[in-house]
Amino acid sequence: MAWRCTGATNVELITNMAKHGLINSERVQAAMKRVDRANYVRNPHEAYEDSPQRIGHGATISAPHMHAHAVEYLLPLLHPGARVLDVGSGSGYLCGVLHYLVTDLDSRVTGTVVGIEHIPELVEWSKGNLRRDGLGAALDSGNIKMIAGDGRQGFAEAGPYDAIHVGAAAPTMPQALVDQLSRPGRMFIPVGEEAQAIIQVDKDVDGNVTQKELFDVMYVPLTDQEKQRTAGL
Ligand code: SAH
Repeated sequence: MAWRCTGATNVELITNMAKHGLINSERVQAAMKRVDRANYVRNPHEAYEDSPQRIGHGATISAPHMHAHAVEYLLPLLHPGARVLDVGSGSGYLCGVLHYLVTDLDSRVTGTVVGIEHIPELVEWSKGNLRRDGLGAALDSGNIKMIAGDGRQGFAEAGPYDAIHVGAAAPTMPQALVDQLSRPGRMFIPVGEEAQAIIQVDKDVDGNVTQKELFDVMYVPLTDQEKQRTAGL
């Protein structure tokens, strides 16, 4: 089905995804149109296909429809001014999309997006990608922060977070991330090893936590840097 959505430009890709029901929200459509996927892939010829792409170091940039699903599930928490954590930020693409969802360009209310990634080479590359995509000022002002570190521990210094996205599959639910959710807050996280599913974790205003299984997926693992480097992907 991926070919159906292929576009000649980024805007065409996103428009085709919306036509095929892979993006349902106007806000998400607008944010994804502003982030040009060609700036976040290794092979720009495949940038506007709805498929994942290897980005080196055992990592992949997710398919655009997975990014769309993730932000649509988090959307009720992505208000202007919100704080968001993206664990396993890889290419930086989703940090760009999240930035536009928590920033109101008219009223100039700006949220904070923190990307945490454990491969330092990818952190550097992602910063360059964001700059190339016109987000240098957001990096300089700290509205987007790209951190090198172990995402399983989250990044408590900048929390708590209204929304947490995890882009790699955790073998079990990482408690540190649940702890760093705001009240209210929501996390979108793939959990499992051979069989993985997306779990939506909700924390209510009183701090009560509930979990809901959404759908089955296949993500790269949330793991140790050494294990990922030797996996030879
Ligand atoms: N959303 C990203 C997904 C990248 S793939 C994108 O579309 O570009 C998943 C990423 O998680 C990889 O970049 C991988 O290096 C990273 N990762 C895996 N384990 C991690 C850990 N313990 N801490 C931080 N990042 C991790």
